[in-house]
Amino acid sequence: MSAPLRQAVVDLDAYRANLDLVRGWMDPVEVMAIMKADAYGHGLEPIALAAVDAGIRWIGVLTVPAALRLRAIGVGEDVHLFTWQHDPALDFRDAIDSALDLGVSNVAELQRVVDAVDHRPARVHLGVDTGLHRDGSSLDDWPALVELARDAQRAGRIEVVAAYTHLAESSDEDDATAVSLFDRAVEQAEDLGLDLPMEHVAASLAGLTRKEYRKDMVRMGANLFGIPGADGVSAADLGLEPVMTLTASVAKTKRVSAGTGVSYDYTYRTSAETTLALVPVGYADGVPRLAQGRVEVAIGGTRYPIAGRVAMDQFLVDVGDDDVRVGDTVVLFGTGEHDETTVLEWGEALDTIGEEIVCRIGPRVPRVYQGHSVEGRVGAYLRGEHA
Ligand SMILES: *Cc1c(COP(=O)(O)O)cnc(C)c1O
Repeated sequence: MSAPLRQAVVDLDAYRANLDLVRGWMDPVEVMAIMKADAYGHGLEPIALAAVDAGIRWIGVLTVPAALRLRAIGVGEDVHLFTWQHDPALDFRDAIDSALDLGVSNVAELQRVVDAVDHRPARVHLGVDTGLHRDGSSLDDWPALVELARDAQRAGRIEVVAAYTHLAESSDEDDATAVSLFDRAVEQAEDLGLDLPMEHVAASLAGLTRKEYRKDMVRMGANLFGIPGADGVSAADLGLEPVMTLTASVAKTKRVSAGTGVSYDYTYRTSAETTLALVPVGYADGVPRLAQGRVEVAIGGTRYPIAGRVAMDQFLVDVGDDDVRVGDTVVLFGTGEHDETTVLEWGEALDTIGEEIVCRIGPRVPRVYQGHSVEGRVGAYLRGEHA
């Protein structure tokens, strides 16, 4: 029996169940499924095809090249693909030809979009910076952006689809201030003669907790991967399922005597004669060095702390006299159903968020797709049969 050395099992049924649940909660508000950073490390194409099979109408992927990858595997124009971080040297022609939705933040960027228009108008969402200071137009520049958009729309070169902003999630008061700035910017646009058919503001956290911020559409990422962001709320509390399970198999075991120093720097010493089990996953695979002493992994339903430094390619666990053997499965994080740690708990233990953990699982870790949704279009894609 040869278990895979390491793998990230991605349960597409769990993703789909989360999507159905969240869409039910948001109804009648539209849900845009956010899949930036290769679908938070889960793999863009399979996640997108599973979402399309579930009837999703909006997907957010950050960049034009990522959206074009989805068009290339048959995600049709009935699915709107929202992009909002653009290389300053990007030629927008392919994006416009492929009917991508372009988030635009400033006059120069909008002018480049308008100049790239040929036979079909560009679909544009106007971004407003309401305090995050990432993308989005500053409030000072907003009237000029609106006027250019209005004139370009009148000339038939663009179609203004929406106004949007992104919240800092710093506090309820700060978010309330941001949303009122956004509302004022929308009114100002209307006063300047530009109609905004849609507004979108909230991501996972505000979408769940602040109904009044849902507007016409909520951009959901983390919730759909089973990594809710509210303090002290687990995925299970909400009925969401973590989508990724990270496993490895024990590669070696070694019996050592009491007082043995373990891994680099001997930061851990065995307290008795014991067995060390080698887990072939290291910081190159996304297990932070900081995980030593902070997270536990499960072997055969028992949790063990990481013993000694996490190395580039491996770490060790001290399993005492337990019957742990080469080939046994080590669950680093999973759904929590079998008492294993969840990625949300990893985030908390490592002073970060679960999103960072899943996004950083490295390319050496194969993603293995599971669930009924692996049939049909996703299956054809995984077998390399896509158009
Ligand atoms: C990442 C992101 C989202 C989704 O955020 P979650 O908290 O994962 O739901 C939504 N909108 C924008 C602009 C983002 O960058």
